[in-house]
Amino acid sequence: MSSAPHRLSVFPAFHKVSGRPVLVVGGGAEALAKVRLLTETEARIVVVAEDPGEELAAVVTRAGGEIRRRAFQPSDLEGAALAFAAAEDDEAADIAVVEAARAAGVPVNAVDRPEWCDFYVPAIVNRAPVAVAISSAGTGPVLARHIRARVEAMLPVEIGALARLAESFRATVARVLPPGEARLRFWGRFFSGSVADRVFSGRLEEARGEAARLLNGVRGEEAGFVWLVGAGPGAADLLTLRAQRLLQEADVIVYDRLVPEAVVAMGRRDAERISVGKAKGAHSMSQSAINALLVDLGRAGRRVVRLKAGDPLVFGRAGEEMTALTEAGIAHEVVPGITAAVAAAASIRLPLTLRGVASSLVFATGHDRDGETLPGWAGLALSGATVAVYMGRSVAGRVATHLIAAGLAADTPVAAVANASRTDEAVFAGTLDDMARLAGLDDAAGEASVPVLIIVGRAVAHADLSNAQPLTQARAVAAA
Ligand code: SAH
Repeated sequence: MSSAPHRLSVFPAFHKVSGRPVLVVGGGAEALAKVRLLTETEARIVVVAEDPGEELAAVVTRAGGEIRRRAFQPSDLEGAALAFAAAEDDEAADIAVVEAARAAGVPVNAVDRPEWCDFYVPAIVNRAPVAVAISSAGTGPVLARHIRARVEAMLPVEIGALARLAESFRATVARVLPPGEARLRFWGRFFSGSVADRVFSGRLEEARGEAARLLNGVRGEEAGFVWLVGAGPGAADLLTLRAQRLLQEADVIVYDRLVPEAVVAMGRRDAERISVGKAKGAHSMSQSAINALLVDLGRAGRRVVRLKAGDPLVFGRAGEEMTALTEAGIAHEVVPGITAAVAAAASIRLPLTLRGVASSLVFATGHDRDGETLPGWAGLALSGATVAVYMGRSVAGRVATHLIAAGLAADTPVAAVANASRTDEAVFAGTLDDMARLAGLDDAAGEASVPVLIIVGRAVAHADLSNAQPLTQARAVAAA
């Protein structure tokens, strides 16, 4: 290995081939594979092979390329942008091509012989004119293909159309907007929001109109936008793709204490990050101050991602923030996230609804605005609903007492998941009778701040609780 493990042994670059000959020497499967790749480009394909396979010949012809049915000669390299030596088992033939290419100054790739290659062929994601090339510098083509599959899934097919639309606006933008801030802002908005959304849903003409409007500033170019975004329960890969995209675009990220650091870190490097705390009992910023902050940022023309743990519309006080934004006339949208209840259920394979056992699901909170426990949903629990209790840890005892008083059996199964989906997740199981024990649960640092989701109901008996600790012994949650 090299002494600098973080340095690349190759320099990724995109080689211009439009209209230029690219030479492939060989007539078998390897030559065919390279020719297929080349058909994704505007290169002029030239194949030299004494006896080209039928399929190869057909592909080359269809692509408007040329086949020279004879042995390779150095003059084949004339004017070539690139050359491939793909003679399969004929090592001498490959060497001849490599040597001739070197002499002619044409970069050459010898299939399956990395030591002879001037360049490697990456795994390619084609969204012309956008291209993503993935290389493992010849060490792991399978890994490169695996990564390609993930990138394929990530990049909408229409991203190419978006790039072409951008191209058609480039000259106008250069004329109308001064270089710098304004231009960057235009393109930032062009590639996200309404223009991109329309391209991605195939409404190209509308997208064009939207882009023109954006350029003309008809829609108030300076108006900001706020996305209320669900950050999920904790595991960074439980974030939605949309949330991830918006994080890349936001100028400002406003986040709560429960939002995982890894998610906040996904934002643009130069994005401003504002923590608004909201630890239980230690509000670093009041809700009205947060509302005002969002309004101010929107008025200042900023593009804001307001990150909330789980789903923004589940005990996230998004209602108040949306009201404030609406009243101030600031455009906003909600991006859903995976709420703690479903993450906790997934962790213990708990069917939240189950035929014949639980036919409804209640998202409940342990206490109301004034800190009172809210047994209002006790009736629902009685009728067989699965009840997911948010913010219930410190009031677990009171909640259980209310439920038992309302008629729920004291031996109704209860599961509690602390830090659901995080590396320091912990599961507890027991009955309503033991639920009070949760109030004494601390995190490893001795702080009662660890988020706990409690699930009550008969469906809990169908969960996989093999890794659960008995509720009766709930005391501390181990650190990650
Ligand atoms: N909007 C959030 C809920 C915010 S209220 C959501 O949709 O998940 C805060 C409560 O959510 C916590 O008291 C806890 O009950 C629950 N919670 C959030 N994240 C959690 C997690 N990773 N594990 C367990 N409970 C969690």
